[in-house]
Amino acid sequence: MRHLPRVLIVEDESAIAELIAVNLRHNGLSPIWAEDGERAQREIDTVLPDVILLDWMLPGQSGVSLARKWRADPRTKAIPILMLTARTDENDKVSGLDAGADDYITKPFSTQELLARIRAVLRRRAPEQAADSVSVGPLTLDGATYRVSLQGAPLKIGPTEFKLLNYLMRHAERVHSRSQLLDKVWGDHVFIEERTVDVHVKRLREALGAAGVMVETVRGAGYRLTAQVQVTIGG
Ligand code: CA
Repeated sequence: MRHLPRVLIVEDESAIAELIAVNLRHNGLSPIWAEDGERAQREIDTVLPDVILLDWMLPGQSGVSLARKWRADPRTKAIPILMLTARTDENDKVSGLDAGADDYITKPFSTQELLARIRAVLRRRAPEQAADSVSVGPLTLDGATYRVSLQGAPLKIGPTEFKLLNYLMRHAERVHSRSQLLDKVWGDHVFIEERTVDVHVKRLREALGAAGVMVETVRGAGYRLTAQVQVTIGG
């Protein structure tokens, strides 16, 4: 089954959070509510959301400082962040975007507007379309040139393995089930068997050479790309 996009709502005002959550749920999204940065971090540590709705004014850490923190963390840096704010000052908008927010929405907003913005950031951040480069441990992938290198040395990799690696690197340290990988890498209209994923994972490991150990099998759960293993190059 295709997983519903998880939307983490970081908002201290419960009435607003609840209203957003109800609307998201009715529109095929899976909302999770955190009332401050600390709780939001706990949610993120458990399961990565697909998009974060981040209130500007929060008790404790501000929305801007949270955005900055999540952008700096390799585990969360690819998650789209949509800032929610009551402010209309152009300078605030600029500092929100400078902190790494993908978009900005001013309260009060309509449900339709919010949904449109969420869908837009989800589309923009789709792994297939990401053209920037990403690094995890000694591996670097360049989405624009379709090149993968291991500590600077180029690797030969097939197109499906490239897409798979692209997705795993942009969602590193997270476990993905075979059906999630089929959805995200092959697309949800493609009917192929789950064991096809295993075949491509095997080929991906071979293509990565010494870094093949970074692609871990998590028994009963799926696969994960991790930088928490020793990669011995030329050993
Ligand atoms: Ca607030």
